[in-house]
Amino acid sequence: MREQVSIGQCETYDYQMMRDAVVSLLKPLGGIEHFVGPGERVLLKPNMLAAKPPEAAVTTHPTLVQVVAELARGAGCEVLIGDSPGLGGFRRVAERSGIWRAAQESGARLAPFDDTAERQGTGTFRRIAVARAYWEADKIINLPKLKTHEMMTMTCAVKNLFGAVVGAEKPAWHLKAGTSRELFARLLLEIYLLKRPVLNIVDAVWAMEGNGPGNGDPLRVGALLAGINPVAVDMVAARLAGIPADLLPVEREARRMGLPGSNWEDVEVIGARPDDVRQRPFRLPAGLDVQFGLPRFLKQGLRNHLMPRPAAGKGCRLCGVCRDACPPKAITMTNSALAVDQGRCIRCWCCRELCPHDAMEQRRGVMLNIAALLMKKRRFL
Ligand code: SF4
Ligand code: SF4
Repeated sequence: MREQVSIGQCETYDYQMMRDAVVSLLKPLGGIEHFVGPGERVLLKPNMLAAKPPEAAVTTHPTLVQVVAELARGAGCEVLIGDSPGLGGFRRVAERSGIWRAAQESGARLAPFDDTAERQGTGTFRRIAVARAYWEADKIINLPKLKTHEMMTMTCAVKNLFGAVVGAEKPAWHLKAGTSRELFARLLLEIYLLKRPVLNIVDAVWAMEGNGPGNGDPLRVGALLAGINPVAVDMVAARLAGIPADLLPVEREARRMGLPGSNWEDVEVIGARPDDVRQRPFRLPAGLDVQFGLPRFLKQGLRNHLMPRPAAGKGCRLCGVCRDACPPKAITMTNSALAVDQGRCIRCWCCRELCPHDAMEQRRGVMLNIAALLMKKRRFL
């Protein structure tokens, strides 16, 4: 059976328009009652990356969160809204993103992810620790924002689940994966497989292009997506964004693992067609990884040439956020300068993602420029 993904158009975040759009989006999938029922504890997992206002398109829009919370409560559920923000405390992010108000309006309870519980992994990773509230919920509804992503090309349904890893543990996972996008993608997929969301609803009314997920540019797409299988949802989201699935480490790894939804032929799109909704392909991050497909020994030897390097730009205010977030501790600071040890750097781009002043730059060498040019010619980028 093919994995169904429903696409609906929604031009603005007007409350009534959003409510009508979500109801019709879910209708062909069986409506909200098909996924959650009376007495269940349902956890909504929006993207709450940083304390940015909704119009920055960094976080899932509060109107979508409110509408889904109301629908689940209408189905008789207890509703929680939780995440572990990459930057800033949960309360600050919830207030600034409007999700605090969405919880109040809908009667949902906020559940910051601060307590961890471990489960035995079933694949590459033997132990996986994520937020206790995530394990303990009866059902998860994943509410990602569609954005470009400097490390993983795109963040949507599968990547959003990494937010279930409690803040302080995220750097350790980056360290484990090192420079391997494939290994990091596998971790994301194994988190998904350990506890599968019952439903994924993507906010692509306003998405993000360019240097996402923290410092890209908002782009109006006017769409919502929904589906049970996040791999299939991401496949359709990529089509909507005009991003070839081969550029997505998550989709490549899902294909290697033989997961349903990782081939276009596995997917059945319901409602609008992605090619009709999309106005133009998303602008990709400037420093996209162009080394995929190379043999491992070449990757290791050429890593420093085929991946851009992080370096603090003129706007750096020496606030120390990147230094504290850097998984391998490759960043050092003096009173007047910031330095990156390129040998230690694993190119995870947490520093760029979290820099509150958009001051961490990507510097490209000559080889990388040539490789990017070649890929552009082959219409990959
Ligand atoms: S987070 Fe940004 S502003 Fe702060 S020290 Fe790092 S590069 Fe500079
Ligand atoms: S310097 Fe930046 S890209 Fe390099 S490891 Fe640290 S956080 Fe990741």
